[in-house]
Amino acid sequence: MLVKLSNRTEAARVRAWLTRRGLASRILDGGALILVDDPFVPYGVKQALLYDPAVDSVEPTRAAPEATIRTSSEDAPWPFPGRMPDIVAGPCSIESAAVADEVAHFLSTLNIGWMRGGTHKVRTSPYDFQGAGLQAAEWLRESCDRYGLRAISEVVDSDDMEAIADLLDIVQVGARQMHNPHFLQRVASVGKPVLLKRGLSATPTEWLWAAEYLLVAGAPHVIFCERGIRTPSPLKRFTLDLGAIPFIREMTPFPIYVDPSHAAGSSPYVLPLALGAMAAGAHGLLVECHPDPGCARSDATQALDFPALADMVRRVRSLNLQEVAIK
Ligand code: PEP
Ligand code: MN
Repeated sequence: MLVKLSNRTEAARVRAWLTRRGLASRILDGGALILVDDPFVPYGVKQALLYDPAVDSVEPTRAAPEATIRTSSEDAPWPFPGRMPDIVAGPCSIESAAVADEVAHFLSTLNIGWMRGGTHKVRTSPYDFQGAGLQAAEWLRESCDRYGLRAISEVVDSDDMEAIADLLDIVQVGARQMHNPHFLQRVASVGKPVLLKRGLSATPTEWLWAAEYLLVAGAPHVIFCERGIRTPSPLKRFTLDLGAIPFIREMTPFPIYVDPSHAAGSSPYVLPLALGAMAAGAHGLLVECHPDPGCARSDATQALDFPALADMVRRVRSLNLQEVAIK
């Protein structure tokens, strides 16, 4: 990033300000320019620089391409008309037309406008249910249309990826796919907003670079989704990294959602993680539910039944988020 100064005598002060924020930089042209070396300058830093009376402009450098993710000049909170959904919910997998319909109907009664649900499932064991594929995407679309919802589902590197993406409003990149640049480019080429899960052990910087791959390949919008990472913690499945929430808010203008279900791995743990995530500044939640969790064909232990989902929605919506608002 190149900071152009209107007042050369202020260059040392502006550079010291950048140093205090952990950013290495160099003064060039006798104080007319400051070159910031780090490819990821926090989004807020760029905004603050533009308010500095000694700063003329902040521009990408040609030598080291600027990360699109942080050169976006506007807040990019949500790519659809209307407010951002507080909760996106649905089964791990769209197992049948009946399950899709039952869930969509229940979500509409809770005033949840977005439904999730897997089509091709990325499973650890090849013997586990692999998802109903394109047929599942059709069931999801039909149910969403019937109840006025929008649809999110993970896409994988399958022959029918484009056909599935056509049926969705947002395409999801799963945690196990985040590290595959060629796949990210293929996903971006479908032209839909992408919900990008964090890889199981991805560093925050690797996650940002994955988003960068999507954006430079033409994805119109990215929604980050923290879903828990591997740590030595003996808890049920993964460890929800709450710190990822302020990190993404600081580094990018894009929304950060949290999936408490895959982090928890166990339904009683979902609510506390969901409440913690919202209090820490998440823009919304991605939650798994099922009309009869005991019969779910994937991720049964973490699925909320309908009463538990309704309770979670009520409790999330009764949080006084203005009080804890994180800008
Ligand atoms: C999912 O959301 O259905 C899923 C498989 O999640 P993850 O990629 O985070 O494991
Ligand atoms: Mn799942």
